[in-house]
Amino acid sequence: MGKLVIVGTVAFDAIETPFGKTDKILGGAATFIGLAASQFNIDTAAVSVVGGDFPQEYLDLLTDKNINIDGVEIIKEGKTFFWSGKYHNDMNSRDTLATELNVLADFDPKVPEAYKDAEVVMLGNLHPIVQTSVLNQMSESPKMVILDTMNFWMDCALDELHDVIKRVDVITINDEEARQLTGEYSLVVAARKIHAMGPQYVVIKKGEHGALLFHDDNVFYAPALPLEEVFDPTGAGDTFAGGFAGYLAKTEDYSFENMKNAVIYGSTLASFCVEKFGTERMQNLTKDEVEYRLKEFKQLTSFNIELS
Ligand code: AMP
Repeated sequence: MGKLVIVGTVAFDAIETPFGKTDKILGGAATFIGLAASQFNIDTAAVSVVGGDFPQEYLDLLTDKNINIDGVEIIKEGKTFFWSGKYHNDMNSRDTLATELNVLADFDPKVPEAYKDAEVVMLGNLHPIVQTSVLNQMSESPKMVILDTMNFWMDCALDELHDVIKRVDVITINDEEARQLTGEYSLVVAARKIHAMGPQYVVIKKGEHGALLFHDDNVFYAPALPLEEVFDPTGAGDTFAGGFAGYLAKTEDYSFENMKNAVIYGSTLASFCVEKFGTERMQNLTKDEVEYRLKEFKQLTSFNIELS
C-alpha cells in the first residue's frame, strides 16, 4: 500500500443550484480529493493553506477520515480561500460568482517530511508553480504523479502549466479544457497532443457522460452512472481524481489494465458526491454503499455478444 500526497485548496464554497442555495460550507479540491481517497484506508496527507476563520471542526473532519493535515498551514491573521458558483438548469454548466484567493495568493506549499517519499502525488487544481513546488520537494521520484487543472490556469499561466505537465504521468482534464489546451475539437486528437506534452496517460472527464482514458493507442471509456437526481455537481471532478489516485496508491499497480479500475472507482465515487450539497454525501459514505454501486456499474456496462 503506497502513501498519497494531495495538494489543493481547502476552502469555503457557497453554491446555488436549481434545488437550493448554501451559505459558506466546506469545499476545496483537496477536501474532495481527500474524502474520496479516504475510502481506501491509505496513508494520505493534504498540503494546503487556510485562514484563522477556518473552523476547527472542518479540520477535525479531515483528521477523522485519517487524512494527515500537518501540511495544512493555518495563517491566523488571514482569510480562507472562498469560491462561489451558480449552476444553470441543465446542471452541466455553471457561472463562477466569486473567487477570493485570500491566503492562497501567497501559498508556499510544504510537504511534511514523512510524506516526501510518497509513491503517488495528486496535484489538485492550483497555480502550476505551486504544483511544481510540491514535485520539487519529493525526495524520491514518485511512482505516479497525477495532475488536475482548469481553463483558468491556461488563460493566465500557460507556460508554467506546460512546464509541470511535462513532469506528470497522468493528467485529468475535462473535455472543454482538453480542447482549449490543444486547439483540437476531436478528443482523440486532443489526447494524442497531450501525450506529446508529457503525460503517458490522459483522462478526459465528460461530466454526466463519463470519462475516457487514453494510453498510446489504447482507449477505455467509463460511463457515469445514470442518476435520478443530481443535486450539486461541485467537486465531482476532484472526487473522481481522489478515487482514481486513492485506488492506484492502494493497489500500487500502475498498468493500463489497473488504471481502468481506477477510472471506475473515480466515476463511482463521483456519482455519490453529486447527490447532496458540497461534501455532505462524501462525509458519511460507507464501504457497503460503494460496493453496491460498483455492482450496479458492472451491470450497466456488461454484455455478452458472441463474436464469430
Ligand atoms: P470542481 O467542481 O471539481 O471543479 O471543484 C470545485 C472545487 O474547486 C470547489 O470546492 C472550489 O473551492 C475549488 N475551486 C474553485 N475555483 C478554484 C480555483 N481557481 N483554484 C483552485 N480551486 C478552486
